[in-house]
Parts: sequence; C-alpha cells; structure tokens
Amino acid sequence: NGDESSLVDEDPIVPLPESNDRRWSDTSVYARKKALQFWVQLPNGNWELGKVLSTSGSGEESVIKLPEGNVLKVISETLVPANPDILDGVDDLMQLSYLNEPSVLYNLEYRYNQDMIYTKAGPVLVAVNPFKEVPLYGDSNIEAYRKRSNQSPHVYAIADTAIREMIRDEVNQSIIISGESGAGKTETAKIAMQYLASLGGGSGIENEILKTNPILEAFGNAKTLRNDNSSRFGKLIEIHFSETRKISGAKIQTFLLEKSRVVQCAEGERSYHIFYQLCAGASPALREKLNLTSAKEYNYLRQSNCYSIKGVDDAERFQAVQEALDIVHVSKDDQESVFAMLAAVLWLGNVSFSIIDNENHAEPESDESLSTVARLIGCNINDLKLALSKRNIKVRNETFVQKLTLSQAIDARDALAKSIYACLFDWLVEQINKSLAVGKRRTGRSISILDIYGFESFNKNSFEQFCINYANERLQQHFNRHLFKLEQEEYIKDGIDWTRVDFEDNQTCLRLFEKKPLGLLSLLDEESTFPNGTDLTLANKLKEHLSDNSCFRGDRGKTFTVAHYAGEVTYETTGFLEKNRDLLHSDSIKLLSSCSRHLPQAFASSMLVHSEKPVVGPLHKAGGPDSQRLSVATKFKGQLFELMQRLGKTTPHFIRCIKPNSVQSPGLYEQELVLQQLRCCGVLEVVRISRSGFPTRMSHQKFALRYGFLLLESIAAKDPLSVSVAILHQFNILPEMYQVGYTKLFFRTGQIGVLEDTRNRT
Ligand code: ATP
Ligand code: MG
Repeated sequence: NGDESSLVDEDPIVPLPESNDRRWSDTSVYARKKALQFWVQLPNGNWELGKVLSTSGSGEESVIKLPEGNVLKVISETLVPANPDILDGVDDLMQLSYLNEPSVLYNLEYRYNQDMIYTKAGPVLVAVNPFKEVPLYGDSNIEAYRKRSNQSPHVYAIADTAIREMIRDEVNQSIIISGESGAGKTETAKIAMQYLASLGGGSGIENEILKTNPILEAFGNAKTLRNDNSSRFGKLIEIHFSETRKISGAKIQTFLLEKSRVVQCAEGERSYHIFYQLCAGASPALREKLNLTSAKEYNYLRQSNCYSIKGVDDAERFQAVQEALDIVHVSKDDQESVFAMLAAVLWLGNVSFSIIDNENHAEPESDESLSTVARLIGCNINDLKLALSKRNIKVRNETFVQKLTLSQAIDARDALAKSIYACLFDWLVEQINKSLAVGKRRTGRSISILDIYGFESFNKNSFEQFCINYANERLQQHFNRHLFKLEQEEYIKDGIDWTRVDFEDNQTCLRLFEKKPLGLLSLLDEESTFPNGTDLTLANKLKEHLSDNSCFRGDRGKTFTVAHYAGEVTYETTGFLEKNRDLLHSDSIKLLSSCSRHLPQAFASSMLVHSEKPVVGPLHKAGGPDSQRLSVATKFKGQLFELMQRLGKTTPHFIRCIKPNSVQSPGLYEQELVLQQLRCCGVLEVVRISRSGFPTRMSHQKFALRYGFLLLESIAAKDPLSVSVAILHQFNILPEMYQVGYTKLFFRTGQIGVLEDTRNRT
C-alpha cells in the first residue's frame, strides 16, 4: 500500500488545468487504478464504455472489451474512468464519482434519451433541447413543482426557487439563460415566464407579460440557418411582484438588435418574421393603404430566396401579433403606423437609382417605390430624393453639398431603412414597457430573466461576434464569482480551510477589452473617429498596443485573435469601423424629423438624444453636432455595465441550454457538438471550479454508515466522526485530499469513487 500513496503523490494537490482539453478530465493514475470500467475514445471521436481484460506488464497498454464484444488494445493513459452503473442518469452531475467529459456526456445523453432534458450541474441547470414536445409542462406540472411534489430538475424548479428566495431573503432574483443559437434559450425563458405568470397578478398583467413574447419574436426573430426562430437581439425582462406576491408589472430591456438583417441576409435565411407576416396576413384595406404586395416583390426579402418556414403560417401569426399588440395597449392607430413603417422599409429596398453623370453620381428613380416611401413616412418626395442623392457637409462654418455616388446612395438608402427598423423596434419596446409599467407604489421585489446570445465562434467572425463574445466574457465573470461565492460560503459554514481552494478568472481577457486607453474597445472607438481609419489601420493599431496581453494575438493582415474563456476566436476587422460608427447621415435624420407622421419624428428625436461623449466618426466633419452619437461598442458596453450592475444586486440562477444536434431534429445526440457547448457555456467550468475545491460532500453519519463495514479492525469509539476518520486512514486517503467540517466531510474529486468501487466489489 506504500505504492498506492506514491501514486497519489503524482496527482497535483490542486489540479489546475493546463489546456482546455484536459481541463478537468479525471484521469489520474490513482483513479484509473481503482475504476471498474472505462471510457475509450474511438477513432470517430465518440466515447464507448469498456472493461479492462488485461494490462501489459509495464502497465502502459491495456486490453479493453467493448459492449458488443469487440476487443481493443489501447494506451492505458488514454482510458478515462467511468462511473459505476448505479450512477447512470443521476439528476445532478455533481453526484458522479468520476467527473470527466465522457461521464458527463453520457449522463446527459442517458437522460435525454428518456426525455429527461433537464439535469443539474451543481447550482446550474442544464437543458438539452428536445426539438419535440415533451410532457413536462402545463398547469399540472406547474402545480407539482409549486407543491414540491416533483423535485426533478426543471426550469419550473429554478423559477420556484427564485420566487422562494426572493421572498425569504428579500433580494431580487435573476435567471440567466445562455447557450448557442438554437439551444432553446428563448423557449426556456418563456417556460420560466409561464411559471411566474401562474402566480397571477390581477387585471390581466400576467397575460400581458406573456403576450410580449409573440410581439418581440415577430419583430426581433428571424429564420437563420441555425434556428428557424432565432432571436436577433438580447433581452432582459424584469418581472415585479407586489408585497402580496402577485405580479405587479414588468420591464423589458433589449440589447444590440442585428439591424443589418433588414437590408441583407444570407441565402436560405429570412429577414424579421414581421415582414412576411404583414405581407401574408394584412387585410385588403391595410394592403391598399400601404400599397402592399407580396413578399416576393420586395428586394430586401427576395435576396435570400426564402419566404416561408416549415410548419409556420405567417398570415395566422400576423393575427396573433395584432391581438398581442391590442393586449399590450398599442392602439389601432399606432399599429397602423407601425405597419406603415414596415411597408416603408420594404419599399425603400425597391428604390432604384440611375446614374446622372460620368462621375458615377446617382439619383433615385421617381417611381412607385419612391413615392410610396414618401407617402408612408409622410415626407416631401423631393426631400426624400435629396436625402438619397446628396449630402450636406459642414467644414467649420461653411456647408458644401456633395453628390452621392451610386454605392454611397445605396448605402444611404439602406442606412435609412435599417434606422427606421431599429427605431421602430425600440419604440415598440417602449410602448410595451408603458403598458407593463409597475404602478407608483412599487415596494415589491423582482425576478429578471435574461435571454442573451451565447458565445459565438464561426469560420468568419465580425463585429457582431466581437460584441457578443465580450458580453459573454462579462457574464462568465459574473458566473465564476457567484460560484466562487457559493463554494466559499459552504466551506466557511462548515468550518473548513478554504484558502487552499484556487479559482481561475477571466480578468485578463476582460482587461483586454475594457482597459483605457489601450484596450480593444477604446482603440476601436479611437480609430472610428479618424476619418482616414480603415480596417487595416485598426488591425495594426490593435497589434501595436495590445500584444503584451496574453489573451491577444495580432495575426497577419486584418485579423486578430482573442483567447476567450470558451476558446480562441479570430476576428476579421473588415467592417468593424463602419459597424461601430453606425452612421445615419444627418440629412436622413433631418428628413425623418421633417415628416408629418409621428413615428418618423419620434425616431429622429431618439437618434438625436444620444449626444453624450465619446462621439464617433467623421460626423464632426460631415454633419455637425446635431448628428453626434455614441459608437455602437460604447453604447453596448454601457448597456452591459448597467446590466451587470443590476444583476450584481440579484441572486442569480443559471440555466445553460444545449443544442444536441445541428439539424434541429429530435432524438439525435451528437457527442462532439454537445461537448463543445459544455465547454463553452461554462458547465465544465462549474465542474472544474468545484474540482479545484472539495466537490464531494457527505455528512459524517452518512459516510460512516456507508463505508463503516469496510473497516478491517474494529475501533473503540463508535461515533460517526471517529468511524469516518478510521476509514480515511485505512484507505490511506491523504490529508490534502479531504477536509473534516463540522457536519460534513469534504473530498477532492475521485476520492469517494475509490471507496465506492471497493464497496461494490465487497
Ligand atoms: P437563438 O439564439 O437563435 O435565439 P435560442 O437558444 O433562443 O436560439 P430557441 O428559439 O429557444 O433557441 O429554440 C429553438 C427551437 O428549439 C424552438 O423553436 C423549438 O422548436 C425547440 N425547443 C427549444 N426548447 C424546447 C423545449 N423545451 N421543448 C420543445 N422544443 C423546444
Ligand atoms: Mg432565442
């Protein structure tokens, strides 16, 4: 048994990860020696369960028998210990004796195959998208969770805990949902809202809150290649409760709507649902008023060659959206104005240009499209023509008129369309908020639900991914700190020495983004204010100033790489400056403010209010102070800080959504895809954090009862603690592998596994 302790010595005491891959793999020689079955990685990357038939003399190679009877010779080091069968499908991953990637993958798959899509990972709820109806929802299930007669992991259970803790601790709560596109965040958020709404509120407020979903989805969701109903914005909904624990109101905040989609979208994707719904579902009278034709007639909708979604009736949805708008008190007049703005955007896309001279200057054609836009937004057709063909440039005190080239004119047109849509979206959210507004006597507490885009890493990553991943970096920090706090509290409560617990942070990466003046965001803003700044000068500037941050790597040409907590992402700076400046020319803003309709006017003034510093862009040169606006990145950072501050005052509950396959099909579980998400969304991080502490806990009593019979020599004292300590000695569990608390024993990973296996063999 001297040989056993020397094996233990090979295990670092605090096994901090060295590379992402082996972050928390439970592959110590010690654990391997004790396990009964193992995970073997097959050449296709999948893991299979196997039993060791024999091991070579030196121990370097093992012969493994797979379930179908196949026999495989493998390097012993690559074997990953598997849990005993009794732990199959446990509802909390923390109950696993061996916490390693294949064990977690297997456990989730085991449950998924039985429609148990929810699993806990300690304090975190993991939700695997079933891509089909599962019988887990509705009133009777809600009732069961309310009474706690059903205790299996569920969004309802999370929502219920949030309510209870809100009442018990008098602290606001938050439910933070993340995951990649199509993983089920929005559905999960709705399920949580359903549970909260079931508490009721009176005067129909809970129904109003639920009806915000079809509205926001119509205007902010679109079919993408990843998800037929992909949210193209982030959302926080804060639901308020009165002192009598009834819903008293709600408030929605949205983040970073993808407005480029209005004018441009990829083959096979769609623009925002509402456009197709309007075209399919508008009444004859409305069609006439808006000069509406079919979706196929509009350039903005035509370019991606996709008009419908399988199983979705756009016309029917349009009725539902109108009803929902009624319910949140958007008047019929306002609804018509909203639809007029949508039609204006569509018609703008059909405005065409003709070249008027040999310098490629262009003017819009005076056709049906142009006149319809002018009529719908309520402006003079000549003013519209001017805004789309000329630009006033102010240099010091002189104003010049510059003609636009064809491509500049098209940009001006698209910029106007995007702005109208984005303003319309914000305006709608504002109306909804007015309707949901919490009364003056707001004494109660709130539960916030955050449905925000998860970490993204594509072949090509642009400004959008840059912002999204930055947000995720912030949320990850929040997550880590919370877990750290929870762990710490538990240790302190039980009187153990927690200074030996080490936690990693993503502070370096956050500093890379936020440091002033030499961080990604500051440098981006600075370059955005230079009229001559280009994507290449930006890339060079970043390389010049940031190379000493270990999370940054300047690459060749216009790209750079950031080492995010969830992996490295290479960004292409192409379009960064333009997207960050997000210019709507002052002439276009003036045009909107001159409109006779109230919505365009409201849009124009909303665009003018953001005139705090820092101001970006050639705006100074181009438009004078009236068009000064915050850069997109700065505005986003501001929103994010405010969000973090708000969340910081709440007790968070985390839900991580997982997409089991990339074809949106039920019953298909792709291990590699799931694994990659578990790594990205921090589930493995939770496990890693607990692993670096003392994740296994058992009360003295339970421990003594469970393993006491393994004692070879009887001991005098029969109290649970003495028995426990005797067991620990007999099994040579080293002092650094456990701690004795007031009520519990705390173990490092794998320690209990050893006892458990011995127990099973006995
Ligand atoms: P995005 O980031 O693109 O907005 P998301 O994470 O919000 O994606 P959802 O729109 O919530 O993803 O889910 C995608 C689809 O998966 C849903 O339209 C639905 O078909 C299915 N789905 C998700 N969760 C569930 C569930 N709990 N039960 C049944 N189907 C679900
Ligand atoms: Mg969504």
